[in-house]
Amino acid sequence: MQESEIDLRALVRTIPDYPKPGIQFRDITTLLGDGAGLTECIEQLAAPYRNAGVEAVAGIEARGFILGGAVADRLSCGFVPIRKKGKLPAKAIGQDYELEYGIDAIEIHEDALRSGERVLLVDDLIATGGTAVAAAKLLKKLGAEIVGAAFVIDLPDLGGCEKLAAIGLECHTLIAFEGD
Ligand code: AMP
Repeated sequence: MQESEIDLRALVRTIPDYPKPGIQFRDITTLLGDGAGLTECIEQLAAPYRNAGVEAVAGIEARGFILGGAVADRLSCGFVPIRKKGKLPAKAIGQDYELEYGIDAIEIHEDALRSGERVLLVDDLIATGGTAVAAAKLLKKLGAEIVGAAFVIDLPDLGGCEKLAAIGLECHTLIAFEGD
């Protein structure tokens, strides 16, 4: 967590019971729509990695594309999309992961990264960590070296950052919503 003049937390809108009853949806479109807030958010996401030799940012569909693209620009490196199954045009490799009900899959182009390339994983929010762990597995399958994983929002009660720590990845998060 970091201090700033801009209250990023206040720029996130909470939609109760979306997409289903009991879920507090943390909507970052209000943050993205605020110029000063967006600049501050991207600055804070990128800050710990300025001298970390990041060679590529990998962002998870879809909000991870918006944030990850901006972070890549800030770090002067390329961007690699991790997409939902069946969306990438060239040859891709996949990774299944568990949702609350059922299984989903994400994919990455098999030639997206070089073996040993230093990659930063970016998404808007970490909840249970299932999506981020699956993304990390994809990056490792390509032989990439994961420098870290950065998220705007942490839902600490759901244990996602602990799950990433268990596979040796450090989480960088900007704001937290307790009790989800
Ligand atoms: P998880 O795999 O449980 O860590 O969930 C993370 C992914 O689901 C991220 O891509 C988030 O955008 C999305 N997500 C999960 N829970 C929420 C929530 N309460 N509000 C907004 N997005 C969420």
